[in-house]
Amino acid sequence: MANLIESYEIQMVEPGCSVGTGRWGALVTLPNDISAVFPYLNAVLPKASYDHENKTIIWTEPQQAYALRPCEIRIARVSDPEQARAAASELAARINKIWQDRESITPSTKQKRPPPVMEIYKLLPRTNCRQCGYATCMAYAAALSQGATTLEQCAPLLPADKDRLQKLITSV
Ligand code: SF4
Repeated sequence: MANLIESYEIQMVEPGCSVGTGRWGALVTLPNDISAVFPYLNAVLPKASYDHENKTIIWTEPQQAYALRPCEIRIARVSDPEQARAAASELAARINKIWQDRESITPSTKQKRPPPVMEIYKLLPRTNCRQCGYATCMAYAAALSQGATTLEQCAPLLPADKDRLQKLITSV
């Protein structure tokens, strides 16, 4: 059976919300539309944020975070081109395997949207201290909403607010 992802190009990018913080990401450009696999990814990734109408799926893992559009993959938390190439290759292999196994997977178009950035922001210390690696609390809130970072990165976060944020993040 043919692979869904046969080729791609990779660029290192510095996310706008993290300029100057030393955080990098990889932008993977695809020559073909891979959105047909998104409902299958949504089925096997219970914590992914999926928007079927707009064809986007986002999820986070301990090492990297991923955001997919029809002809584009963004991989957060890569430190150099070698790591970007390895992460892209590993993800392409995983997507191709899911695509090849799709007859045994029940696709899901259930909408799972990320928690609102402003709701997250309101519970943060809002001091812009940068200890989390992001330039502002708002940038960190946006990253949290997309699953690209964890609550543990905000050292000044009060335990009660951390509990509230945990509930907010896992309620989607
Ligand atoms: S560590 Fe917390 S308080 Fe400091 S900038 Fe990041 S989110 Fe804001």
